[in-house]
Amino acid sequence: MHHPRSSYLADSSMDHLEGSIPKTVIKRFASEPILRIGFMEGYEKVDFRVSGEFNVTDLDGDPIFNGVSSRLKWRSLIEGGHGATFIYSVLVTACREESEAIELVDKLRRLYPQVRMQRLGGQLVIAGSLVNDNTKYRILAGAFETEAEAKKLLAKFSDEYAPRIIREKVKEPRGKIEVYDAEYDYSVKIEDGMRIVPLSEETTITLYGVKVGSGFQWESMADRTYRGIIEIRVGNDARLSAISELPLDQYLRGVVPAEMPAGYPPEALKAQAVAARSAVLAKLGTKHLNDPYDFCANVHCQVYSGNVSEAESTNEAVEATRGEVITFEDRICDAVYSAVCGGHTEHKRNVWNPPDEPYLQGLYDAPEKDRPGFTLDLSKEKDLRRWIEEWPDVFCALNHDKLPTILAYSRKYFRWEVSYSRKELEDIIKKRTEEDIGVLYDIIPLQRGVSGRLMEIEILGSRKNIRVKKELNIRRALSPTYLRSAAFVIDIEMGEMGTPLAFHFRGAGWGHGVGMCQIGAAVMALDDYRYPQILGHYYTGTEVRNAYSTGTP
Ligand SMILES: [Zn+2]
Ligand SMILES: [Zn+2]
Repeated sequence: MHHPRSSYLADSSMDHLEGSIPKTVIKRFASEPILRIGFMEGYEKVDFRVSGEFNVTDLDGDPIFNGVSSRLKWRSLIEGGHGATFIYSVLVTACREESEAIELVDKLRRLYPQVRMQRLGGQLVIAGSLVNDNTKYRILAGAFETEAEAKKLLAKFSDEYAPRIIREKVKEPRGKIEVYDAEYDYSVKIEDGMRIVPLSEETTITLYGVKVGSGFQWESMADRTYRGIIEIRVGNDARLSAISELPLDQYLRGVVPAEMPAGYPPEALKAQAVAARSAVLAKLGTKHLNDPYDFCANVHCQVYSGNVSEAESTNEAVEATRGEVITFEDRICDAVYSAVCGGHTEHKRNVWNPPDEPYLQGLYDAPEKDRPGFTLDLSKEKDLRRWIEEWPDVFCALNHDKLPTILAYSRKYFRWEVSYSRKELEDIIKKRTEEDIGVLYDIIPLQRGVSGRLMEIEILGSRKNIRVKKELNIRRALSPTYLRSAAFVIDIEMGEMGTPLAFHFRGAGWGHGVGMCQIGAAVMALDDYRYPQILGHYYTGTEVRNAYSTGTP
């Protein structure tokens, strides 16, 4: 069966939908890449103050106010408008190669006729050189006006894949913003959005009442100060949103101290800076496809709070590694990391959806010479139990005689314990999974990855048994917050009637365990490893290159 290539990209029935036909994204920068970070969404008004001279322009850059030097608070208000329009589809899976995607579309169309592929990402060109190509293909099924309709289709694909609902924007939001100058005696109405452009590099912009930790318990309000350009525009929800536009390394100055304590050893901070820079460039153009920015400022992408968290040590780490990224076969690596691996890192494919990455494979977190001579299979209960009871000689075990306090503190994440009464755990499971299993009888580990992290469990109850897949869902289902990791064993204390009284969890590590172990990196730095060696240890087969210099990366 042969179709024209374009027939795989979108259903012909969808041709009328603006935005449904993908285009190759080519990001091109003259030198250091400029990022757009979305950090405010859903506001009725946004107040701001600029520390030096600035211009205000519309979204096309046409001037509205020129050379303003008022240092008082300005205000922007939403003046009505309408939100964006979306269609909903099932995201079945993703792959790197177009040929593989075409094969999959053919295969899945036998299951359901409305399957198409969508190209994401593209080439990244800096100073005329191709430095990365992160093109990948998503396989999508259906296209519906409501999420509920798309949900009905999920089950069709859930045996073989981990499908989820995604939305695609088919119509942009519109609206007016009214901007008041500091004295509130002059205002102007602007269509769709405005840009606040500082006229010198030292000038900062403060935004008032920024919601912090959106979607989490610790939500609060704070004033935040940013370098670079701020864009205030009508968001998809027809309210105000704000975007910070700034050079990548300036962004990293805010991100690195949020991801790793500034008191960690310098070589660990450099490894963190290179990992973060690589992860940003690797993902550029593949996230927030419905938003007018590259990344959000929340945990979803990377926590970014402007310049408030900058520290001298982390700024130095960013500068010392300016432009440096890790690559694998000419592609910039999505260099993910987590706090403490627990002694063994995990394969990417055991934690997240495809495509897999050859440089994100689980490994024993110790120098080659210290790895055990015998076969250790942490996916087996017996080996994992012994491993958790022991304190193996690995980097993140913190078996070091001259440990700074900031690191010694993290020993409690290497091995941990949590206990619940049966009743407590029944309540947690009910709340977290929204399933009433009745009396909790047992929790059965069904599949573990190479680090011992659970990939699937079955919870046995008097009313029903439920299965929970994926490490984050498992950590969520068995805790009012999240269990520190999914690498744990379960011990049940039985009552006289054969009903459990309590459940004890004993585990290793903190976080997903894929890629760099941050505590391990800090200990390597104490042991005089340089940052390229640290990165080489955690990201197998990669090398450090400079992406901003001309010539090949
Ligand atoms: Zn995000
Ligand atoms: Zn580790």
